[in-house]
Amino acid sequence: MPAKYSRPPLTIRSYAIGFIAVVSLLFGGLSWAILNKMTTARATLEFAEKQSASLEISQAATLFFRETDSIGQKISIWDETRQQLSDSSYYVYWRDGRVLESGVLPGYVEAVELYSRQKMPLAGKGLLPYMPSRIPDGADGGAENEDGFAYAVRRDGLTDVYQIIAIRDGENVGQVTGYAVARLNFFAMIRDLQAFRYVDVGSLHLSMAEGERIPIQQLWPRMEYKVISNQEVLSLLDVIFRSQMQMAAAVLLISILFYAALSELVAKPLRRLSRHIDSLRDGSGQMLDMPFTQEPVMELEKVRASLNDYQHQLNSVHARLDSQNVELWGMAHRDPLTGVFNRLSFEEDWKQMQNVATGHRVEVSFLLFDCDHFKPINDTYGHLVGDQLLQRLAQTLQNTLRAGDRLYRIGGDEFAAIFLDASPDDVLDVAKRCEAAIDSQDFFNLGIREPIRMSVGLAHASGTQVEELVTLQKQADVAMYHAKRPGYGKLVAYSEEMSTESEALFSNQSVSAVFEAISGKGAVLEMHYQPVVSLKNRQIDYFEALVRIRRDHELLMPKDIFPVVTGRRLEAHFDYVVLDRVLRDLAEGVIPEGTGVSLNISGPTIVHPDICEKLGQFKTYFGRYKLVIEITETALITQLQQASANLGRLRSEGFIVALDDFGSGYSSLGYMANMPVDVVKFDISLIRSLDKDNRHSDMVESLVKMISTAGYCVVAEGVETEQTLEKVRRIGFSHVQGYLFGRPAAKAAAELLC
Ligand code: C2E
Ligand code: MG
Ligand code: MG
Repeated sequence: MPAKYSRPPLTIRSYAIGFIAVVSLLFGGLSWAILNKMTTARATLEFAEKQSASLEISQAATLFFRETDSIGQKISIWDETRQQLSDSSYYVYWRDGRVLESGVLPGYVEAVELYSRQKMPLAGKGLLPYMPSRIPDGADGGAENEDGFAYAVRRDGLTDVYQIIAIRDGENVGQVTGYAVARLNFFAMIRDLQAFRYVDVGSLHLSMAEGERIPIQQLWPRMEYKVISNQEVLSLLDVIFRSQMQMAAAVLLISILFYAALSELVAKPLRRLSRHIDSLRDGSGQMLDMPFTQEPVMELEKVRASLNDYQHQLNSVHARLDSQNVELWGMAHRDPLTGVFNRLSFEEDWKQMQNVATGHRVEVSFLLFDCDHFKPINDTYGHLVGDQLLQRLAQTLQNTLRAGDRLYRIGGDEFAAIFLDASPDDVLDVAKRCEAAIDSQDFFNLGIREPIRMSVGLAHASGTQVEELVTLQKQADVAMYHAKRPGYGKLVAYSEEMSTESEALFSNQSVSAVFEAISGKGAVLEMHYQPVVSLKNRQIDYFEALVRIRRDHELLMPKDIFPVVTGRRLEAHFDYVVLDRVLRDLAEGVIPEGTGVSLNISGPTIVHPDICEKLGQFKTYFGRYKLVIEITETALITQLQQASANLGRLRSEGFIVALDDFGSGYSSLGYMANMPVDVVKFDISLIRSLDKDNRHSDMVESLVKMISTAGYCVVAEGVETEQTLEKVRRIGFSHVQGYLFGRPAAKAAAELLC
């Protein structure tokens, strides 16, 4: 049972893509969380660094203020300062050299200028761009204290701090004797005072406009700087970030490789495997020569080997089956005895031929071959000889047919050939050659001591109608039926004139009536009796038993019955049923005692092995009835020996043998002389010819004389008029039969009608 899924199945690739998507999502989520943490850590770190930098700046400010105080202090208490104010003879020297070289002041003090108590420089222009008017009140905006104040000026891109110090007489308490102005390099001073760890010293600058002047207390809020980041932590974060990126790339690469590997090693081989199994199912499977993948994979190779093994086994099974099929086809389509195609094959080919021919202008011919009197031959010489005869016939016909023409055995001794697109003349030629080939065969070496003839029926259709093709077989059958009859050649081509008989031959009603009559179900077999009158005493000598079949209210006559009986090879069977019926009539007294009954026996029946035993059932009527057996000359000609032997035996037992329909065939008198016959019944055609001219009468008269002189009793059939009666009497017939004396009737009348 196939598993049921609520949704259509997905491909391996889809699953792979899904898996990769899930892995990517998980990895992405993890990376996002890590990056988030990193960002937070970085922000915290930066905040801490900013705090530290800010602390460093405040520390620097504290140190700065302390240092400016300290510098003011140093300058104010330096004795050389007071000395210069009191005596400025060497002031220029002191100012330009001594102050900076003395080592009293730190290096960032770039210059010191002294001013008088009146705020005038001791020499030159002085350091200050201007001198505050009020000192030390801080009115110019400078920070004010007791000893002075300081301010910062931005000039030429540099920030200088000017510290104005009041120089007092005595230690800080005396009178102001003058002023000292020191110019400090602000940034050098800061750098010197404070060791920065978090502040990028190089980035330190003040947001001041050029020429702007501010008190030093306002310097710090305007201080701008860059914070030095913790490089280890930053590089660690960087390493983490890069690792993260590398991992993302690795995951991407692994996903691509995973997808490719899955596709290459699983999906593709599976698809190929599936295709191969499909081709195995369709029967077009080949060996898998190539590995499933470019680089062979062990498990897949094992699958391939197993499949190839399976394929190999399958191939050998197929090969065995194929040969068995061919053998079976041969067994099913060939006749095992003769080797030619059998009935099944015929029917298949016939159907196919109909398909091919229908709708196209293809000429179709049908040849039917039938061995004359095969059954009696088979019975006489044995089945082995019968089989050999059939083999010889089949072989001869097949060898004579054109290459590629198929010969079919469609019945016991019946063969057929179909010709497509051949003209009737060509087919006739072939049929003649077949006939000649059979005639030229020596069947004596098979132990058969009588001529073997084949009757051939030919039918041709040049139309394209299905109906024409369907009736073709029947037409060939009708032609064959005529070929079997006296007066026709052994090779007969179907003509329209035969169609009336073919109606009887193939009328379904006749066929079923015959079969019903034989089986005793449905139609009833009925015997009618016609008197045969002796001309010596004009008394009924005996009655000829003539068969009819009653079906519903219809009476089927021999002309309807016998085409079916002969066509279906039912002669013996049918005659036996008739004989039973006559026996019953005899027993029931239908035939008057003291007369007799004449039984018509067909050619195949007289050579039947049981015929003598069958007729032996009539022995009880000997003495009370005359028993006559009528056979036609054709029955005697073929299988002469067997027929003669049986008739001789029957004669010796008391039966009278009559040769029926004399003159309708082609037997010679000499031939007849050797036959075990007592009565010769002249055919109705000869009797009718008596009315034509004297030549015919003379000929019949001399024949009658000759035959009666030879000791035969001579009967005239078909006497209908007094004139004919007169003629036959004059000619010398001993007996007459005809409507003049009575028509065949169900009840044999003891008295004559005329
Ligand atoms: P047949 O043995 O020669 O029988 C004589 C046929 O001539 C009969 O035809 C009969 O009705 C017909 N006939 C008799 N007198 C006259 C006449 O004056 N004028 C005309 N026009 N016909 C006359 P039927 O009964 O149709 O039989 C035809 C043939 O069928 C018989 O010819 C016989 O060969 C065969 N047949 C009839 N009954 C049997 C039977 O029981 N067994 C066999 N094997 N053959 C039978
Ligand atoms: Mg007869
Ligand atoms: Mg007759």
